[in-house]
Amino acid sequence: LKVPEKVVIGYIEGDGIGPEVAYAAIKVANAAVEKAYGGSRKVIWYEVVVGEKGEKIFGTRLPSQSVDVLKKVRVFLKAPLETPVGGGFRSINVTLRQLFDLYANIRPVKYFPGLPSPLKKPEVDLVIFRENTEDVYAGIEWPYDSPEAAKVREFLRREFGINLRDDAGIGIKPISKFGTQRIARLALKFAVENKRRVVTVMHKGNIQKYTEGAFKEWAFEVARTEFRQHVVFEEELGQYGGQVPPGKILVNDRIADNMLQQLLTRTGEYDVILAPNLNGDYVSDEAAGLVGGLGVAPGIDVGDWGMMAEPVHGTAPKYRGKNYVNPTATILAVELLFRFMGWIEAASYISKGVEATYRSGYYTADLVRQMDEEEKRRVKEVL
Ligand code: NAD
Repeated sequence: LKVPEKVVIGYIEGDGIGPEVAYAAIKVANAAVEKAYGGSRKVIWYEVVVGEKGEKIFGTRLPSQSVDVLKKVRVFLKAPLETPVGGGFRSINVTLRQLFDLYANIRPVKYFPGLPSPLKKPEVDLVIFRENTEDVYAGIEWPYDSPEAAKVREFLRREFGINLRDDAGIGIKPISKFGTQRIARLALKFAVENKRRVVTVMHKGNIQKYTEGAFKEWAFEVARTEFRQHVVFEEELGQYGGQVPPGKILVNDRIADNMLQQLLTRTGEYDVILAPNLNGDYVSDEAAGLVGGLGVAPGIDVGDWGMMAEPVHGTAPKYRGKNYVNPTATILAVELLFRFMGWIEAASYISKGVEATYRSGYYTADLVRQMDEEEKRRVKEVL
């Protein structure tokens, strides 16, 4: 008797359109596992009650029982959760990331043939590694008229002779060697394991030397010391006739502003991108716009403790219960989960399925909205 290898994956069905996209993705995931492993592997999906449902059942949106379950399962899918406006309500999404120290936000951005993309960039196949815990997101800031800001201004004046205006708000941007190197390691490991071509470190080190500049230096140090046999740097290309030798990964860096522009004009030069938190935020949304937007943008938050896959979009409350939205982002989030669990065959079946769907001309309304007249005419002909 062959006992199937079972893995328990938690899932949070989410608010608004959450349940619609979550259950669509779970259905696809089960089919992919069945096809890839023919019954020798199985996922046991375990619901973790959070959000509106948590409020109804346990009287709180993040019940401690649910946090305990997440601590046990360590790997979970999270459909979007509403952040109620006002009342100082802290986003559960952010809380979960911090609670489990999920320090890397990873977003692949890939063009599927047939996908209506306003920018027509079929060469897009990026994976963005965004640092998730530091930078201006540390939330260390004070309004200009607070006693804290006054103290900091006074300290700077007294200790360093730096005179800031009295109406200046203060924010702090911490970027550490530890925080940088753990995500750099993850990005480089991913690039090696997935045979990627380039890892580009995106930074604004020309201006912010000791935060973003240091981010670049510390990331390069990891490449140089821990991945030496796999990588080549731009200044070494001369030895190889200007080409990246086969089997090696080019590690380079680009200044953030220039890079945001080049991603549109020289898209094919980019592959894996490693960025501090704020740059990572900007570049992931820009990149998603290259291939069809929120409806097709998945993400995964990874830490040493575990991982949480999610669509990038929110709860789209106006479409709740209408069976209208695009489940692709959540389906691709599960694909990522499988990929990072090492269930590569199941992951590949999911991406092949998505590819085949778009190739054969099935679209949800969010994508039709992005089509130009020519594309709309073509789709009508097919229908
Ligand atoms: P949203 O992502 O819900 O919606 C933005 C736009 O995209 C809307 O027009 C929406 O209808 C559309 N859209 C989103 N997902 C789609 C899909 N799968 N298919 C087709 N169209 C889609 O962002 P919002 O309106 O700013 O936020 C709504 C709620 O979601 C808020 O409570 C917010 O806090 C929450 N939110 C949660 C997450 C998360 O859980 N990670 C992320 C963003 C927003």
